[in-house]
Formats: sequence, structure tokens, C-alpha cells
Amino acid sequence: SVADDEYHVAVIGGGPAGYFAAIRAAQLGAKVAIIEKRWYGGTCLNVGCIPTKTYLKNAEIIEAIEMGAARGINFASTKYSIDMNQVVKFKDGVVKRLTMGVEALLKSNGVDVFRGVAKINKNKDVVVDGNRIIKADKIILAGGSKVSRINIPGIDNPRILSSDELLSLKEVPETLTVIGGGVIGVEMALAMHAIGSKVTIVEMMDRIVPAIDSEASKVLADTLKKKGIKILNSVSIVGIEEAKNKLQVKLANGEVIESDKALLSIGRVPDLEGVGEIEFETERGKIKVDSFMETSVKGIYAPGDVNGIKMLAHVAFRMGEVAAENAVKGNHREVKLASAPSVVYTIPEVAMVGLTEEQAREKYDIRVGRFDFAANGRAMASGDNLGFVKVIADAKYGEILGVHIVGPTAAEMINQAAALMELEITVDEVVKVIYGHPTYSEALYEAFADVLGESIHI
Ligand code: FAD
Repeated sequence: SVADDEYHVAVIGGGPAGYFAAIRAAQLGAKVAIIEKRWYGGTCLNVGCIPTKTYLKNAEIIEAIEMGAARGINFASTKYSIDMNQVVKFKDGVVKRLTMGVEALLKSNGVDVFRGVAKINKNKDVVVDGNRIIKADKIILAGGSKVSRINIPGIDNPRILSSDELLSLKEVPETLTVIGGGVIGVEMALAMHAIGSKVTIVEMMDRIVPAIDSEASKVLADTLKKKGIKILNSVSIVGIEEAKNKLQVKLANGEVIESDKALLSIGRVPDLEGVGEIEFETERGKIKVDSFMETSVKGIYAPGDVNGIKMLAHVAFRMGEVAAENAVKGNHREVKLASAPSVVYTIPEVAMVGLTEEQAREKYDIRVGRFDFAANGRAMASGDNLGFVKVIADAKYGEILGVHIVGPTAAEMINQAAALMELEITVDEVVKVIYGHPTYSEALYEAFADVLGESIHI
């Protein structure tokens, strides 16, 4: 038993990593404190995963309306207008319900919930707002991440927004430059385009979202361009100025892009405010952890974005859970990420798990199966038949090495592929499964069958 102000586990940060860790530790019988400086639910619930999906749904609704005429559905008027106050209000309502849910869950699990800035002192105590001391046997530092800045002249212009700020904008900027064509950049580009902004994406690399399969990236880029989004690749920004109420983003090639606002989406960096007086081993600003999520300082764990291994909410959830179990019961459970999916929430969605074709080819003798949604009945009926599924398997054993999907329901379908990979099911076993017809998932089935040369519809 511990004294009133002493805890088995203190958790810094109430985002996905922190709140999962706190609840799991409490479920295991530990006395737990959690401290959050800004908002329970963290980046994900407040300004990340969830609010962006309200904007994605808005884009889907608009596309669905635009599809109507070809299908014989005629509205009295094809005109619509966007009420940004309501757009933001709806989003805020969803965020509020979910973040209140997180606090309620913490409390109902018996976690002591604090607000304030937490820092670890030399004695490994957690100090809240410089005065309140929380003593704990183990600390879970889940401080998450914040927007990364770059050193370009003019970058502090108030017309340049972070994704946090863009999601609260009460009017649609007529023109928007998206600086950085990664996951967040393209998601926001699509969302803002749908509600009426003229969007230009500026990307340093030769393709957008370079982490995804190159073919998928191309399909995504082609589709975004067709919708009217401008994409500039292999360009770098040398400076930003303001003239005549417009931002002027200057590129190294001499070109100047004019817009009302810009989104800075070049990535995120760990928030290290909670580190306090502790010297952790770090790597490029990220706290180093082992597979048990323990840092170089014994008894302090660092799950989630703060370790920068894979900045995704579901990865943070798992890391938080594992950190808590190890903190309470001793290091025994490792985090394994080989079958953790990644998704780009655009229209179409892009999702992947495992290795890309390029990565797989370097290590294995591979076979690739592929199926286009253009030949999938459900996708045809829905008018949503752009994209493909690609399965990469080891040629010898049929081990699934990677699955890449661009197209309808990719974000949902990738979980099936992740389950198959995690359970180490081989390609010849997958094709024994009977898939319901007509479903989008049949495209996944056919891609598996194609690895064996057995697809019927190719
Ligand atoms: P965070 O969510 O950042 O939470 C950390 C918390 O700790 C914060 O609330 C912070 O206030 C608090 N904190 C920090 N330091 C202290 C301190 N010293 N004292 C007290 N509190 C402190 N991921 C997905 O998987 N899917 C998506 O669709 C997706 N979409 C995204 C869209 C956007 C626009 C952004 C920005 C991110 C998105 N992400 C998405 C990423 C996802 O939000 C993060 O990976 C996830 O939130 C990480 O969880 P975390 O708990 O590690 O950190």
C-alpha cells in the first residue's frame, strides 16, 4: 500500500499513449495518477485523427452530391454553400463528447486525474506546475508531439497556420498553400479543397506521401490533381513574404506561389517539456526506448509520439498499454509493430501494412498479386472504382510481407490484412476463406488469389 500522495504509476500526458497506459495500469491494480497540461485525449482527439475525419466526411458528402446526376438523382439545385461556423461547431461537438469520455473513463477506472504541466525532477518525482509533488514508483512519460517548425525567412507570418489552427478556421481561405505533402498535408489539402479552397501542395520529395507504395502515391497524386489540387514536387521553399494581403511563398526555382493562407505540415517533433531534470538518451530529439518502452533511465517509460518510432494513434495505444503492463508487472511484454497499419485518409483512401514492394524486393524473392477495383462489382455499383489492392508475398513460403490498398474502404480493409499478417497466415490459407459478395473486400481476396495465379476476374 502507498500513502495518499504516492502512486505506483504516474503518467505524464493524457493523449492516446497516456490514457491507455493509465487505464491499463489501473486495471492491473496499480494506484495511478495522470497529469495533462492542455487537453485530455491529446493531439489525436483534439486536433488530429478525429477532427480531421469530420472534415473528410464533409468532403465525402460533397463528392456524393456531385455524383448524383450521373446516377439519375437530381437535386432541385446543385448549388450548396458551406457554413464554416457550423462545420467547426459540429467538429467541436464530436471532440467534446470524446474527450469528456476519456476523462470519465480514467475516473471510472479509479485513476486520479490532474491538470497542469508535469516535469520530472532529479529525484524522479513528478512536479506539477512547479509546486505539487507526485511521488511514484514508475513514471510513464507520454508527452506526445507538437508541430515541427522550419527555419525559413518569413515562416512566422500569422497567415501560416498549423493543422491545429486550420481546424478552427471560421472562413474558407480562397487560396491555400500546403507546405509539406505528407499524410497530414494531403488530408488537409483534400478537406480544404472540398469546401472550396484552391489548394497547392508544395513537396520537397519527388512524390507525395513518400512513405507509401510508389504506385499508390501516384494514383493518389493523379486523383488529387484531377480534382483540381495543384501538386508541386521536388521543390524547396527559400522564403515567405506578404504583399497585398497575400502570402508569397518563394521557391528555389524562382517560382512564387500566392495564397491567402498556408498550412505548415512538414512533420511533428516530440514534446519534451515533461523531461524536466532527467537526462535521457535521445536520438534526433526523440526519447530512445527499448522494445519494453523503457527509456535509458530505469523505471521511466516513454510510449507514443514522444519516442518518434511511429507517430500514429493506434501505435501510441499499444505502446501505452505495453508500457503500463511492464511498469506494473516488470518488463515482460514487447511492442511489435510489423503488422501495424498506416492510412492516408483522402478520397480515395490509401492504406498499407508491412513492407513496400521496393523494401520487400531487397530482402526476399517475392511474388506480387494485384487486383483493380475497376473489376470489383461492389465498387462499380457504387461508382467508386478507382484504385487497386496489391499483395506482396514471399515466393517460397507464401508469407504475407505487405499489403497496399488505394481505393474505397481501404482504411477498414487494411485491418483484415493486418490480422492475417499478425496471425502469420499464408497466401494459400487466405484463399480458403469465403468472402461475401458483393463486397469491396473481394478485391483483397482476388489480389491474394493473384499471388497464386488463381484470380478469376483478372
Ligand atoms: P499526444 O496525442 O500528442 O498526447 C500527448 C499529451 O501530453 C498532450 O495532450 C499534451 O498536452 C500532454 N503533455 C505533454 N507534455 C506534458 C507535460 N509536461 N505535462 C502534462 N501534459 C503534457 N494518427 C492516426 O493513427 N490516425 C490518424 O488519422 C491521425 N490523424 C492525425 C491528424 C493530424 C492533423 C495530426 C496532427 C495527427 C494525426 N495522427 C493520426 C497522429 C496522432 O494524433 C498521434 O500519433 C497521437 O495523438 C499520439 O499520441 P500520444 O499520446 O503519444 O501524444
